[in-house]
Amino acid sequence: MNEIKMVDLKGQYLKIKEEVDREIQEVINTTAFINGKVVKEFQSNLEQYMGEGVHATTCGNGTDALQIALMALGLEPGDEVIVPAFTYVASAEVIALLGLTPVMVDVDENTFNISIDEMKKALSEKTRAIIPVHLFGQSADMEPILKFAKEHNLYVVEDNAQAIGAYYTFSDGRRMKTGTMGTIGCTSFFPSKNLGCFGDGGAIFCRDEKLAERIHMIANHGQKVKYHHTVIGCNSRLDSIQAAVLKVKLKHLDEYCKARYEAAQYYTTELKGLESIVTPYEAGYSTHVYHQYTLKVNNGRRDELKEYLATKGIPSMIYYPLALQEQEAFKEITKSCGRLESSKECARSVLSIPMHTELTKETMDYVIESIRNWTK
Ligand SMILES: *Cc1c(COP(=O)(O)O)cnc(C)c1O
Repeated sequence: MNEIKMVDLKGQYLKIKEEVDREIQEVINTTAFINGKVVKEFQSNLEQYMGEGVHATTCGNGTDALQIALMALGLEPGDEVIVPAFTYVASAEVIALLGLTPVMVDVDENTFNISIDEMKKALSEKTRAIIPVHLFGQSADMEPILKFAKEHNLYVVEDNAQAIGAYYTFSDGRRMKTGTMGTIGCTSFFPSKNLGCFGDGGAIFCRDEKLAERIHMIANHGQKVKYHHTVIGCNSRLDSIQAAVLKVKLKHLDEYCKARYEAAQYYTTELKGLESIVTPYEAGYSTHVYHQYTLKVNNGRRDELKEYLATKGIPSMIYYPLALQEQEAFKEITKSCGRLESSKECARSVLSIPMHTELTKETMDYVIESIRNWTK
């Protein structure tokens, strides 16, 4: 069998090589490496993909997207932003970077996403925004989040870096894409993300035209007219070569989501009910695009399984080994809401196994068989 990888970017590329190469060559031919016409084209395709009425601004990466989002909302030092304690560091880093206070909230142990009850407890007079993260490819429970935000006049900035292509279903049956429900949505095109380029990239979504204009301006040195700077901004751009790659890959995104979902269903059917193993929970309100296929390994046996899989040539990853409030950098500046026990427990028990668009049945069978042998 070929080497097993967490993510197979090469295999995915080979299937669309001709078109991707042609688009990249086109950028080189025109030498419009920054702000080439393909950036606008991709941006407009992305708007269509995300849904009617959505404005998109492409930018340098997903972390910038979050930072620009918070800048655009005009938050001020001391303002509190609620964020789940179990997430990638970027979600909270940008809050601290802008002099705002991250308020860590526990996650739901089943979905790994922000707990609604804990979110409510975190409210203070200084709360201005909530950053729900759609972790591993499944939407946070947006309806109660949006309702709570509306009641308390809070902004909602969705961190959609792991869930582009997923849908949330409201209780009245309406379906919306993750990243388009809050005040602003942010995503990343890091190569291993579900829609990834060949370097860094990101995008910011919103429905309010005025706000979109402001976001656009901030990402571009605070200028609308060249050399006339209205607000303090930053320099965050998606370059033309990345846009060219993304333009091709966006056409395949739904197919990619489906391939991941189907692989996940196979894993779950075969791994369900094994001793010490908990397969991913699918919430009824969201589709799951399986950015990661993440098991929970109980009884303190996670590291043991990881080591065992390594001896079988199967890679696995711990996303994430520490809850945010346990990170050195966050200890001093963070407010924690409650004891964050579930976040800590997740950090101790999660294990992500190979998940990508090119998984074969043969590879999955080998992974499944190895995990089964371990549990025996
Ligand atoms: C990847 C990721 C980011 C940041 O994206 P970059 O493009 O790497 O800056 C932010 N939040 C989450 C949840 C992510 O997974």
